[in-house]
Amino acid sequence: MNGRIRIVGGGLTGIMAAFEAHRLGWRNIELHERFDALGGVARPKVVNGAEMRDGCVYFGPEGDALVERLKAQGATFETFDNRFGSLSLDGAGKRVFTWDFGGPAVDCASLRIARPAGDSLADRIAAYPSPIAETLAEYCRWHLGADLAAVHGEAAIPLAINRVYPAGAETPALVALKASNEWADELYGVPRGLSGRTANVTASLPAGGFTALFETCRRSLETLGVDIRFESLISPRQVMAEHAAGDTVVWAANPTPLFKPMGLSTPSLVKKSFFTYVFEAQFDGPCPVYVQNFTAKGDCFRAYLYESGGKTLVVAECVREADLRALPGEIRGLLSGFGSLKTGALLHSGAQPRWIYHSRDAIAGLATLREKLTERFGPSFVCGAWEPYGKSAKLAEVDAALAMARNAPAAGLALVG
Ligand SMILES: Cc1cc2nc3c(=O)[nH]c(=O)nc-3n(C[C@H](O)[C@H](O)[C@H](O)COP(=O)(O)OP(=O)(O)OC[C@H]3O[C@@H](n4cnc5c(N)ncnc54)[C@H](O)[C@@H]3O)c2cc1C
Repeated sequence: MNGRIRIVGGGLTGIMAAFEAHRLGWRNIELHERFDALGGVARPKVVNGAEMRDGCVYFGPEGDALVERLKAQGATFETFDNRFGSLSLDGAGKRVFTWDFGGPAVDCASLRIARPAGDSLADRIAAYPSPIAETLAEYCRWHLGADLAAVHGEAAIPLAINRVYPAGAETPALVALKASNEWADELYGVPRGLSGRTANVTASLPAGGFTALFETCRRSLETLGVDIRFESLISPRQVMAEHAAGDTVVWAANPTPLFKPMGLSTPSLVKKSFFTYVFEAQFDGPCPVYVQNFTAKGDCFRAYLYESGGKTLVVAECVREADLRALPGEIRGLLSGFGSLKTGALLHSGAQPRWIYHSRDAIAGLATLREKLTERFGPSFVCGAWEPYGKSAKLAEVDAALAMARNAPAAGLALVG
């Protein structure tokens, strides 16, 4: 089978799909990216040689499958001590730092836990004892401002509430419960220092930053003979119209334009924008480091300190447009558990929707879309890592679908409707 493979979208999913397609034996590989560079949402703007990251983002430690695959293509990574923490309020409303734990700590002694009654975020929250459920509901209203019954439970991951530390409980009892009860293990967490667990101790970042990583990927793909087409915005109808028997398509871009041509209505999405502000910084604590804010107060839900272009920078990810007079003080307060911070000039600000596919309607809609595409096109249409959670599993699914497409008998695409 020597057909063409067209990959739509030059983000991480499209890049990895192109490498995998080459490994599987395709030689006529096109990678279409609507903008003039690879990287998608993970590609930061660069100001005076420093990357303006829109949030806390990093790769797994050495040995992580994605990291190792990128290394095999010439990328280099720097491993660092993964330091993080969270700020919560105790029962008396006093601020409490929890080190080496990225989730909320709630003053609650009860370890009661139930299996969530459904798949919504509201169901997930209702599985906890009431002091925890009330704290989480307030935090989610502050953070997302959406109807929690309409949001999928997996949104707990980007909201950083997938595991809650019941700070009033005895640690040995909590550890024992986690070991014996599947849902307790899923919904409760123990700070690293208390549990003695060593997961997430290190993580990695691309040496030279994300810009260097994507430049390495571009060079490596070109060396492999991949035809990268920048400023190439592809529509589903165009893909179908130009599709010849034996071709394969990978849709590694936003799936929204696919619904209508497939005769489906576009699902309702979580329409919430987040605001980010990057400041120059001086810090006497660890770097990189991030602190999550679970107090449901202020504007900033996470402060992330990192180095880029010889500068120390801090990005504040905010639930709304921030009050710029108050924001530096808020960031200082968040990071004060780790060190003392001085902020300098504001170098970058931005606003964008994120996690829009986290509604229950969207997750169900994507499943239907996948089914319809498979029904109509078989293995010659490969769906990207669309769902906004479980990314490494989704990338593995893309690989499996590519392997299937490679071995499948040639079939043309015909778009109806
Ligand atoms: C600030 C920030 C926010 C993040 N938000 C999320 C998130 O919301 N969800 C999530 O899962 N992970 C998120 N991550 C984590 C991770 O970076 C992404 O999951 C991962 O990079 C997504 O890669 P992707 O290739 O699937 O999608 P993207 O990075 O979105 O890549 C898609 C690419 O397709 C291009 N494209 C779109 N339509 C077309 C078209 N019709 N024709 C041609 N090209 C097209 C886009 O320009 C883009 O380059 C985020 C990371 C950061 C730093």
